[in-house]
Amino acid sequence: MIDSKKYMAAISILLGILIIGGAAINLFISNLTHLFAVIIDIIIIFIALAIIFSIIVTNKVIKDKKVSSWAMKINFNIVSVLFPVITLVANLIGISKNEIRKVYVKLNNQYIYSNKYNIKPEDILILIPHCVQKNSCKLKVTNDINNCAKCGLCNVGELVQLQHKTNVKVFVATGGTLARKIIIDNRPKAVIAVACERDLTAGVQDVKKIPVLGVFNKRPNGPCVDTSIDIKEVEEAINFFVGNKNN
Ligand code: SF4
Repeated sequence: MIDSKKYMAAISILLGILIIGGAAINLFISNLTHLFAVIIDIIIIFIALAIIFSIIVTNKVIKDKKVSSWAMKINFNIVSVLFPVITLVANLIGISKNEIRKVYVKLNNQYIYSNKYNIKPEDILILIPHCVQKNSCKLKVTNDINNCAKCGLCNVGELVQLQHKTNVKVFVATGGTLARKIIIDNRPKAVIAVACERDLTAGVQDVKKIPVLGVFNKRPNGPCVDTSIDIKEVEEAINFFVGNKNN
């Protein structure tokens, strides 16, 4: 569940800091050359307008209201640039980074969903974290997911079935480095990444040239142990990328 109020609080405070900072700089630079003052004012006004635009678009996206693809793209670029500063402000006012990351991944997903794709299933790569595998299971599914015995104790078995049913590629990534290697080796045209807020944000920021849809894993036992996946959400993402009209 995304609590957009926390994200909005952080970005609004950032806007406030910018406006107050701009006013203070104006007082300070009144002694300096006129041209310098004008350039500083233009930069501050430009950033402030970008933030106001982003607040309006983000608010609509979070509330699932209709937003054009170009507006989503511009907004996602603004949020990507401002992301380190927004998380810094959020941190200062006691808001967890994950709240900001959830909004970031949602903005990414909604932007991807606002486009149309017609990708072959074999060009779609699904990356899942190792913690989805039952902690007590000794089978080595990191090398090949088909080593799973499909006992039903975790979602890996369902993913093997999904792989055979749809022909997509499914890999278990034990970390960001391996995930990058899997993407380079397989050269997919789209990625569906399942992970926590931190890893999904890093993954989306890392992979620039192909669309990445992020699916949050569920962590009823705490982080990194026996996590689970909503297989239906993954299936919907596959259908979307292959251009299935039901999505
Ligand atoms: S479903 Fe597969 S990976 Fe999961 S516990 Fe059973 S055998 Fe192991």
